[in-house]
Amino acid sequence: LKMLSIKDLYVSIDGMEILKGINLEVKPGEIHAIMGPNGSGKSTLANVLAGKEEYEVTHGEVTYMGKNLLEMAPEDRAKEGLFLSFQYPVEIPGVPMVNFLKTAVNEHRKYHNEKELTAGEFLKFMREKMDLVEMRSQLTNRSVNEGFSGGEKKKNEIFQMALLEPKLAILDETDSGLDIDALKTVAHGVNALRKPENATIVVTHYQRLLEYIVPDVVHVLYKGKIVKSAGKELALQLEEKGYDWIKQENEN
Ligand code: ADP
Ligand code: MG
Ligand code: MG
Repeated sequence: LKMLSIKDLYVSIDGMEILKGINLEVKPGEIHAIMGPNGSGKSTLANVLAGKEEYEVTHGEVTYMGKNLLEMAPEDRAKEGLFLSFQYPVEIPGVPMVNFLKTAVNEHRKYHNEKELTAGEFLKFMREKMDLVEMRSQLTNRSVNEGFSGGEKKKNEIFQMALLEPKLAILDETDSGLDIDALKTVAHGVNALRKPENATIVVTHYQRLLEYIVPDVVHVLYKGKIVKSAGKELALQLEEKGYDWIKQENEN
């Protein structure tokens, strides 16, 4: 069974080709890491999977749970169990996190013909998830992301992920400024939420996060192509040797 299948994907922005033939298969239960030097196209790949508009898919296919992902509206992708770390609002002043989260959870439930949670039921559900990802409750009483630090935003994002219980989570770790505490929160959340029927793709420039999340497969994206795929040892190799050897191998 495949959860996500990307076949020969080419993507352009403003007529400039960024992704040049990506192939990737993710099965339930797997954690994949996508690494690579800056500007390789990692975020472009994540954004295309999220359904951001400015990207033009010029060739290839993406199948998610047996459906053509590229034809699905971004909000339907989310309701079908795809979670993208940057899909949620940056800041909504005046709207407490708890209200925002309850609405999001109930929208998903409605879509799947499940009974909506009452305020009391939602609080109980939220407390269970808080324990699971070890999140303190103060954040949920504050306005959505307003005045949150980078680390708090990250924790919040992982908490949203815990509540939405995605089938496939794609986490683009663009923020290299996260401290170890925030990285550990991300890792702890990903590990705690890991199930045989779920999968995660972690996009990261640095190996640091992968000290805490052990991937099944590590891919290196370089100049719009996956130039290497291997086990978790590849991340360690990249930590030791950097990306120069990858660049040299692909410079001819
Ligand atoms: P990575 O995440 O690996 O650092 P990106 O996907 O962010 O790489 O970027 C890949 C290339 O695409 C870079 O050359 C970048 O400048 C370009 N790019 C990405 N997003 C845009 C955009 N919205 N408009 C124009 N160029 C973009
Ligand atoms: Mg970048
Ligand atoms: Mg990026």
